[in-house]
Amino acid sequence: MKKTFFIHTFGCQMNQYDSELVDGILSKEGMVRVDSYEKADICLVNSCSVRELAAQKARSELGMFAAYKRKSKKPVYYGIIGCLAEQEGKHFLVKFPDIDFIIGPAYERQIGAYAKKVLAGGGTAVVTGPGKEDWTADELIKRESKKNAWVTVSKGCNSFCSYCVVPYVRGRETSRPFGSIISEVEKLVGEGYKEINLLGQNVNTYGKDFSAIEKKDFSELLKAVDDIKGEFWVRFWTSHPKDIPLKLIETVASSKKICPHFHLPIQSGSDRILKLMNRNYTAESYLRIIGEIKKRIKNVSVTSDIIVGFPGETEADFRRTLELYKKAAFDVAYTYTYSARKGTKAFDIKETVSETMKNERLRELMNIQREISQEVNDKYIGQVLPVLLDGTVVEDNLLNGRTNNNKPIFVEGNACKGGFVRVKITETKPFSLKGVLAQDVRKGL
Ligand code: SF4
Repeated sequence: MKKTFFIHTFGCQMNQYDSELVDGILSKEGMVRVDSYEKADICLVNSCSVRELAAQKARSELGMFAAYKRKSKKPVYYGIIGCLAEQEGKHFLVKFPDIDFIIGPAYERQIGAYAKKVLAGGGTAVVTGPGKEDWTADELIKRESKKNAWVTVSKGCNSFCSYCVVPYVRGRETSRPFGSIISEVEKLVGEGYKEINLLGQNVNTYGKDFSAIEKKDFSELLKAVDDIKGEFWVRFWTSHPKDIPLKLIETVASSKKICPHFHLPIQSGSDRILKLMNRNYTAESYLRIIGEIKKRIKNVSVTSDIIVGFPGETEADFRRTLELYKKAAFDVAYTYTYSARKGTKAFDIKETVSETMKNERLRELMNIQREISQEVNDKYIGQVLPVLLDGTVVEDNLLNGRTNNNKPIFVEGNACKGGFVRVKITETKPFSLKGVLAQDVRKGL
């Protein structure tokens, strides 16, 4: 009988991509993915260590797997992959002595071989640290969606923001070969995928590690993807504000398929805190960049991430973040309280902001953002926007979709298979739009 496996994924899109990749690799070994750990022979948690809460959830999932292994009548194998596996490594053996897999991100592409070894009685696979560069396994990815695909363009990060574990757990940045990305996107478009999401910790530095002969940058990659024939959209995640050249903004502005949306995490509006965070830009230079983006790209949306309560953040620093919020007028901002992560530079800075104060600041930002998002969305009333319907219906006669500038939208209309349409906006909420199919239903591109 075929062996079965279960994966519970925590964290960012990169982890979701990795889980789809692990799914493809184990499927190639003849195993079958199941939707519950109680049906599985191999139980895996793909972990995140960016925030303590996510790390706790992964540990408690492991506890559940361990209990299942003890009580199960059949042999069960369990383990952890992803960022927390890299960060805590063999320390998991102390709390979970019968664990079977501890696999860091650099070794997930070899999980097929490790699974075979463990199933054959070869003992626990503990593999962490820098791995061998290999992008060939990425072709095995088994995507959950048939319309929306994540395509990794680079791995790791060289930015070393002082609060972030990513450079330590995912290693230095390496770019995927240009041709490999283009041929994967061509294949996906041929298979009918409608939305391609190019993914990297900082896509803007794509190609910086290439030799002079193969030199390509992210703008050139976007241009080449835009030139691929077919009906599809392209999004990209995430852009570091310190690395945005005008060339990239102009490439998006002149493209046919690149969606008008930049996710540009600001993290703080205080230059003093930005310096402590090692972000390498100022509030003013950030505002200049988004000014250029908004000037050159029609109906562009700019979204951001903000951390409140970084060690040393004073009331005055926080007020600067509020001022920046008002000037930037983000479409959406994702706000987080600071979570100290062992091994980062910021971990050694004494925390000065209480949890109560962090939560108060968070609430204040969220309330202001709600008002700003409503104002930003109100300007779309009466406009016709390109929309990709995903083929699902939320209520009777309300179709689920997303605008090209990445706003969730509900469209009045009859059942529809999904695809590109044009929608006239009739109602707005802070974080969604509502509309009707435009009279002249045409392709959204
Ligand atoms: S850019 Fe900064 S926050 Fe983003 S992954 Fe790299 S180190 Fe972490």
